[in-house]
Amino acid sequence: MIGTIIKSTGSWYTVLADDGQFIECRIKGKFRMEGIKATNPLAVGDKVDFDMDHDNASGIITAIHKRKNYIIRKSVNLSKQTHIIAANIDRAYLLVTLAQPRTSLGFVDRFLITAEAYHIPASIVFNKVDIYTEEGLEELKRLTELYSKLGYTCYTLSALKESDVTFLRNKMANSVNLVSGHSGVGKSTLINSIEPSLSLKTAALSEAHNKGIHTTTFAEMYPLKAGGFIIDTPGIKELGLVAIEKKELAHYFPEMDAIRHLCKFSTCVHLTEPKCAVIEAVENGTIAESRYITYVTIMTGDELGKKYQD
Ligand code: GDP
Ligand code: ZN
Repeated sequence: MIGTIIKSTGSWYTVLADDGQFIECRIKGKFRMEGIKATNPLAVGDKVDFDMDHDNASGIITAIHKRKNYIIRKSVNLSKQTHIIAANIDRAYLLVTLAQPRTSLGFVDRFLITAEAYHIPASIVFNKVDIYTEEGLEELKRLTELYSKLGYTCYTLSALKESDVTFLRNKMANSVNLVSGHSGVGKSTLINSIEPSLSLKTAALSEAHNKGIHTTTFAEMYPLKAGGFIIDTPGIKELGLVAIEKKELAHYFPEMDAIRHLCKFSTCVHLTEPKCAVIEAVENGTIAESRYITYVTIMTGDELGKKYQD
């Protein structure tokens, strides 16, 4: 039988079989992965072959299908190892807000770099538009223009407003959608608006909720009524960037990648080199300063960038 892993707790996996049944499965033997040193052999979104066990109630996973893509983060304890968060993602949505808690542009850029590196189309969703100040709305306009030009679709909404999320519900139907964002931006609220039957706990409903309380390391994937899934990722602070080498970083900035060949030196890393097309573009405003600041921050390894380099 064939199915998709929708939940993982370490040794057990919930598989949604292609016939619509949910079956708890285990792994048989050792899995050989394509050169990835990961703490978990399988993740949500993985397509697998499985057989029913003798008890005919649980299943045994016998093979994993080739992944279209996958997203990883560094394992907390074993620095050389990585943890696969999810696989076979059709689109990654980054939920941000220009109200409280304001999302930094560095965070947005790092998310987009990760998506580029893993070949996952990305969109930015600006939430809480109902409480933006005048300046907030102006910034929204500026950022929407900036990121749309780079190829990332931008949406603006209030997750509290049912009519605002309808289009997103339609967009997400029949595909695998990763939703990320800092705690407090309204991720649970949005997912509940899209799929009310899920009733995820939101800060507004749960007193116990606060930053840092999310200790789950496994992402969960929720089937959508209209078909497809939403993957809710816990703690994405360490997301991605683990496999990216410094000299490759500019490849994941579409606006830099497009003009790299115009730099005088083919080995140019766009920091201090003469006749650098990227630096010139920043100076004449074709490349946004905020994007270049993110680039330099990661390249030069100050506190923020350091984590993402080795
Ligand atoms: P999560 O940590 O990202 O899952 O955030 P929650 O969904 O728990 O939302 C955090 C807080 O923001 C809650 O008090 C929500 O009611 C509030 N919130 C979410 N979306 C919106 C919105 O569009 N507008 C406003 N004003 N508040 C929102
Ligand atoms: Zn250059």
